[in-house]
Amino acid sequence: MPDETFGFGVAFTARTLRVVAEAERATFDRLVEASVPMPQQEMLIDGVSVRAKGTGGGIAIARSRLLAVLLDEAVRAGVDVDLGVERDLDDVRDADLVIAADGVGSRTRAGLAEHVGGRVVPGRGVFMWLGCATRLRSNLFVPVRTEHGLFTIHGYPYAEGRSTLGIEADVGTWRRAGMDTATERTPLTESDAFSIGYLQAAFADALGGAELLGNRSRWMHFRTVSLPRWYHGNVVLIGDAAHTAHYSVGSGTKMALEDAIVLADSLTSGEDLSLAGALRQYEEIRRPRVEALQDAAVRSQRWWDSIGHRLDLPAPQVMLAYLSRGGVVSISRLVESDPGLLRAGLAAFAGVEPTDGELGDVRSWVLSRPYEGAALRTGGRVLDDDGQAGYREVQGEPFAVTALRAACPDEALAAVLGTDVADPWSPAADEVLDRCFALAEAGADGVRLGGRPGRPALLDRLALAERIRRQTKLFTVVGAPAGHIDDLVDGLVAGRADLVAIAD
Ligand SMILES: Cc1cc2nc3c(=O)[nH]c(=O)nc-3n(C[C@H](O)[C@H](O)[C@H](O)COP(=O)(O)OP(=O)(O)OC[C@H]3O[C@@H](n4cnc5c(N)ncnc54)[C@H](O)[C@@H]3O)c2cc1C
Repeated sequence: MPDETFGFGVAFTARTLRVVAEAERATFDRLVEASVPMPQQEMLIDGVSVRAKGTGGGIAIARSRLLAVLLDEAVRAGVDVDLGVERDLDDVRDADLVIAADGVGSRTRAGLAEHVGGRVVPGRGVFMWLGCATRLRSNLFVPVRTEHGLFTIHGYPYAEGRSTLGIEADVGTWRRAGMDTATERTPLTESDAFSIGYLQAAFADALGGAELLGNRSRWMHFRTVSLPRWYHGNVVLIGDAAHTAHYSVGSGTKMALEDAIVLADSLTSGEDLSLAGALRQYEEIRRPRVEALQDAAVRSQRWWDSIGHRLDLPAPQVMLAYLSRGGVVSISRLVESDPGLLRAGLAAFAGVEPTDGELGDVRSWVLSRPYEGAALRTGGRVLDDDGQAGYREVQGEPFAVTALRAACPDEALAAVLGTDVADPWSPAADEVLDRCFALAEAGADGVRLGGRPGRPALLDRLALAERIRRQTKLFTVVGAPAGHIDDLVDGLVAGRADLVAIAD
């Protein structure tokens, strides 16, 4: 039943709404009517507020209202709806087509595992979905420190007097606060009253004392689902059953809606109207879009999971790092859409006062900022490549090192490290960190990260470089072809790399 659903509000961008409007004007009109406009993004870091204009035109809506509208429109269109009845694949297998939209824990997916596969990766941190009895003034991000560790709130209003909140913590914080025991003790059908009481007190300042609300709210690890195939025979998976994307990119419901729209089109007006042809077309159209979003979502998730490591940065710089975290939005876009934020963020990066002047060529400006670290001082951020390559022994293992003569008369030494580590917080990344500590011991001042070509590998390297420079104090150099200049510039501004090398 719509009013028995889990969660609180969800958000849709203007782009998602356009897709709905093109498919079903009546549904679009009703969703907009049942929603509230999404306010500006705001980060509140140690009492400093910074706002981002965003793309505008988004909405937020209660999940219960969303489901009520979709249900009503389905009934109007002649769908015979059996609410509150659990079905197994065996109950419906002889239908012409079975569309399984049974969520992240899909039993249908499990039943078809040998045909569709199924990779479910639990997140490192924990999250809880709560509501709160106030209409927040912004789409708000607040890190809140307690004696047990860091909690982050991401909340926005979805109705009069109501906001939705995603709360996150790392497992250590969750345990220290005694919430692991509370999670174990809370029955699946209830909310975790102990944790809600704790968070109510911890968030009193950030949320103006607003009451927190539970709806079968409990701590969970987010599960990222990805499958090599989304259909088998007459059964097709859509929505969370087929794929999930971390909620920090707010796209799970959007993907479920877009799946349904493309599936309906493929079945009724596709090029090949046989069932196999229509299902193939559905997957061919949807898969690249879903995978691109999942890629951004995983990067976003890793960024949030490690947010505590960058809260020493000035708030406007954290906001720029946040906006560019998934590799979807480049800060150069803000020249037109949000010059005030861009000016503040760039000034914070460069350690200068913001000015009101023309922004001009942001890329060149960033690349020509001086760098000053313990071992290296340069007039700009681009390393010219005529440093001398050589080899050194580190713990019996030879490592390539480059003497950065061009950049530094004192010959600061950057060890050249090949890394192809996707997750900068994985055990494989821990090993790279160990090597970096050993290199520092052996006299290296920085590391230059190399590895596979291509943009995904470059984004991975930038994320790892951020961890290396923060934890080892080595400076980091990341190189890429000129076509990826925006990623390099974003990386510098966000504090992911100290210097860049641009290949022809
Ligand atoms: C904290 C958080 C915030 C989020 N915010 C956003 C957001 O802002 N924007 C956005 O687009 N997405 C957001 N999402 C994601 C979104 O909630 C999900 O992606 C979305 O609910 C997926 O829809 P679905 O229909 O595939 O699955 P679900 O919503 O999980 O629905 C599955 C349904 O199937 C039913 N079911 C399961 N098994 C059976 C069975 N055997 N027989 C009959 N029925 C069954 C369940 O009862 C349920 O009603 C968020 C998620 C979280 C966790």
